[in-house]
Amino acid sequence: MKQSYLIKCAAAVVVLFFAASGVRAQSLWDLANQNKAALMISTLFSAQDVRDRLSSDQGIDQAIDWCKKTGVTHAFIESFRDGYTAEKKALEHARDRFREAGFDVSGCVTTTKVGKDSTGWTNIACYTDEPTQKRIQEIFEYAASMFDEIMIDDFWFTDCQCSDCRKARGDKSWVEYHCDLMTRVSRDRVLAPARAVNKQAKVIIKYPQWYEDFHNRGYDVVRETAEFDRIWVGTETRDPDNERWGKKAQYEAYYIMRWLGGIGGAKCGGGWFDPFGTHEDTYVEQARQTVLADAKEMLLFCYGALLRDTGPANVERLRTEIPGLFQLAKLVRGKPLKGIAAPKPPNSDAFDEQYVYDFVGMLGLPLVPTAEVRTDVKAAFLPVHAMKDPQLADKLKTMLAAKTPVLITDGLAKKLPASLAGDENLLVLKVGEKPNSLLDLAREELKPIRDKLLAPLGIRFDAPNRVALYLFGDHCLAVENFNDETIGASLGFQALPVPTLKQALVLPVNGSVLALSYEAGQFELRLSPRTLVVFEY
Ligand SMILES: [Zn+2]
Repeated sequence: MKQSYLIKCAAAVVVLFFAASGVRAQSLWDLANQNKAALMISTLFSAQDVRDRLSSDQGIDQAIDWCKKTGVTHAFIESFRDGYTAEKKALEHARDRFREAGFDVSGCVTTTKVGKDSTGWTNIACYTDEPTQKRIQEIFEYAASMFDEIMIDDFWFTDCQCSDCRKARGDKSWVEYHCDLMTRVSRDRVLAPARAVNKQAKVIIKYPQWYEDFHNRGYDVVRETAEFDRIWVGTETRDPDNERWGKKAQYEAYYIMRWLGGIGGAKCGGGWFDPFGTHEDTYVEQARQTVLADAKEMLLFCYGALLRDTGPANVERLRTEIPGLFQLAKLVRGKPLKGIAAPKPPNSDAFDEQYVYDFVGMLGLPLVPTAEVRTDVKAAFLPVHAMKDPQLADKLKTMLAAKTPVLITDGLAKKLPASLAGDENLLVLKVGEKPNSLLDLAREELKPIRDKLLAPLGIRFDAPNRVALYLFGDHCLAVENFNDETIGASLGFQALPVPTLKQALVLPVNGSVLALSYEAGQFELRLSPRTLVVFEY
C-alpha cells in the first residue's frame, strides 16, 4: 500500500511537470487572456516611465512586448508622481496604443510631493492646507480626463502635525483628526471632482502593506472603503532577511489581502508587490501569497523597476510560475476559508505586538483573517489588537464556555480579567513583545498548540517552523515551505472514510513533493525548499 502510493505520487509529479512545460509552450499572452477572469496580471508605468519609456513608438513597442511575454494584460499608466506630471499627449498616445494592442488600460496617481510638506514623512503633504487640497483636486481632474479607472498608490495619507493641523484638530485625537481629514478630502477633492470631469470615473484606493499603522496616518479602512469605488492591497513583503526592506514574514501578504478582502468584499480588486530587496524565491512568494489570498488581480510594480537590478531575474522566474498561478487562483476561488479565526478590528492598536498575525501564520496555524471578533468559530487567535472590541471579555467567556480553543498572546493575557485565566481551552502564546521571535519556536513547542487548535477542524498537522497551512472549503488545502531546506511534515485527518490526497498543484515547477500514507488517515509529506503544494481530498 505504502509502496503503491509512493509510485502514484512520483508519477503525479512527473505528469504535473510535463503539463507545466506544455503550457509554457503556449504563449503567456494567450494563456493570460484565457485566464483573465480567474486572475488578471497588470503592471504600472509610473509617470517617470511614461516620460522615459513610453514617449516614443519604439519604447511603447518594447513595453508591449515585455507585457505580452509576462502575461500582463492590464496596463496602469500613471499621470502624476513625485511632483512630476506626465504630458497629456504622451499619456493619451500610450493609452491608445495599449488599447489597440488588446490591453485593459487604467490610470494611476501617486500623491507624493504634492504641496505643503507634512511635518512627518518625507514627500507626504499637509492636507489641512487649502492650496494643497486644490492642487490634489487638479491632479485627479487631470487623470479623470483621460482614464475611466484611476488607482491611487499607497501614499494617500498624512501624519502632519503642523500648527495649522493642530489648530484644525481641536479636541480630536490625531488618529481621529487624520482619519476624518483624509476621508473628507477623498470625498471632496478626489472622488467628486473626478466624477464631475468623467461620469465613468472609478477610483481605487490602494492600501499600503503596513496595516498596523493605517489609522495612525489617516487611512480609515472602513470609511474610505465605503467612499471609494474599489480597494487594492499592498502585498510587498520582500525578502525577510534583507537589511533595508526586510523583517517581514511572507505570510503578511496573505493576511492583509484576506483581511482587506473581507472588509472590501466585492470592491476588493488585486494585490500589488514590487521587486525591491527581493531575489527570485522571495519575489515569487509574494505572487503566491497574493493569489492564495484570493486576489482577482496582481500588479507587478513597476515596469521601470523590473528592468533593472534584480527585476529581470525575478520576472524570468515569475514567468515560469504564471500557468500555476492561474491554476491556484481557480483552486481557491469561491471556497470559504476554514481555520482559526484571527480578528484584527479596524483601527486597532498593535502596542508591542506589531504584525503578530503574520508570524503566527508562519507556524502552520491556518488563520482566517477577519475584522470582527466572533464567537461562532471553531478556534481563535487573539492578540492585544482584540482589546479594541469593548465586548472582548464577554465574547471570550462565551467561546470558552463552548469549549472553543483560544490562543491568546501574553500581551493580551496581561490585560484580561484574572477570572479567565486557567481555563483548559485558553492557551497563552509567549510573544514577549517580539513577534518575530515566534519564528524561533521549535517543532516540539509548536505541536501542542497546533494539536489543540486544529482538533475542532478535524485535522492534525506537524511540521517545522516556517511551514504554513491553508484550508480552503472542505476538500482543499495548501502547505507552503518557506525554509531553504527540504522539510518533512505530517498531516492527519479524523474523518472517515480516510480521504485520498490528490496533488493539484506544485510551485515552483521543479518543486518536489512526496505524500506517503503510512497509517489510516495520516500522511507523511516531504517538500523541497520554498515549495507550495495544493492537495484536493
Ligand atoms: Zn499640517
